[in-house]
Amino acid sequence: MDKETIDRELAAAAERGQFLDVVKSYADFDFDAFLDCVTDEDVRTVLQKPHLNRMDYLTLLSPKAAAYLEPMAQRANRETIRNFGYVMQLFTPMYIANYCENGCVYCGFHQGEPIVRKQLGRDEIREWGKKIKETTGLDSVLVLTGESPRFSSVDYILDAVDVLKDIFASVSLEVYSLTEEDYRRAAAVGADGMTMFQECYNKAAYEPLHPFGPKSNYEFRLDAPERAARAGLRTIGLGALLGLYHWRSEAFFTGIHADYLQHKYKDIEVAISTPRLRPCVAGFQAKSPIDDIGLVQYILAFRLFMPRAGITVSTRESRAMRDHLVHLGVTKMSGSSSTAVGGLACEADEDSQFDINDTRSAAEMAQMLYRQHYQPVFKDWQRMV
Ligand code: SF4
Repeated sequence: MDKETIDRELAAAAERGQFLDVVKSYADFDFDAFLDCVTDEDVRTVLQKPHLNRMDYLTLLSPKAAAYLEPMAQRANRETIRNFGYVMQLFTPMYIANYCENGCVYCGFHQGEPIVRKQLGRDEIREWGKKIKETTGLDSVLVLTGESPRFSSVDYILDAVDVLKDIFASVSLEVYSLTEEDYRRAAAVGADGMTMFQECYNKAAYEPLHPFGPKSNYEFRLDAPERAARAGLRTIGLGALLGLYHWRSEAFFTGIHADYLQHKYKDIEVAISTPRLRPCVAGFQAKSPIDDIGLVQYILAFRLFMPRAGITVSTRESRAMRDHLVHLGVTKMSGSSSTAVGGLACEADEDSQFDINDTRSAAEMAQMLYRQHYQPVFKDWQRMV
């Protein structure tokens, strides 16, 4: 994408107002000071409130609130059952290409890594899509390409959507940041959602983590979910990659980003993901790891802040962790996952983006959910034909 196009999109975003304005409003806010000063009384007061504001949410992300996981979990469970029922949506990621022009230092697909690069053609995408559908029964797919406008052009991505929309009820995209017009084209072809991980909301930390490539433009990426919402995509997913920067402030910005979009675009469904950094061929070590307790606290705090928003947990998490999280606010899980291009869950591939932790098939995930008295949902939406 040329600089002129990006500058034009960013000028339009500045004109209409954007989440970047919200991020900037916290430039002088001392997160550590706030988090250190939270008292037991503050946490108990927040837990009594029917609706949480931003500072209430941050209060529940504090170290002090970690002692209140049990009441938070009980309320998160109640809120989730009230708004979603005993159901869990299942989906599978589908990596159709792994060319990437970015230099994300924590990723096994980044441009400098000597991995085998692949890209599936239209017929291969169709055959693989059919195989996934037949073997798993899953009807919701998230299409990933790596981020290479040169190899995985917008036309290539739209072509993949065009093929897959005839196989799956729901096709979402996790690709590089598109223009508003290109998101509109994706929606017209049949995509119904998009996920865009900002990865790191702290701009000073973001820049060395993303030294080159299209993704090095922090502002253009940050505005992508809003462009997609304006373009008519129905579901918008957000997330920070936990481990890259202090997780409490990253969780805070992810949550208020979701809240910002939901208030501004009433007809979208917004969801967050809570990915933790996993080992990959790049060998990057988390600078600020988040432990299991911290992850649970983040999910519970977000559920209390946004009772109707989706929460997705991927196969980066262990089987035991995902089983446990079923009751704590999560609404969507991936299954039968592989992060290798054209890969199935049962096939090992040393050129995968990161290591899968929970390798269960969709059928095994469904069995686990039935045992916990939840209904696995393979299809929750159908486009008009
Ligand atoms: S995280 Fe995504 S954009 Fe970054 S190197 Fe990996 S595949 Fe490319």
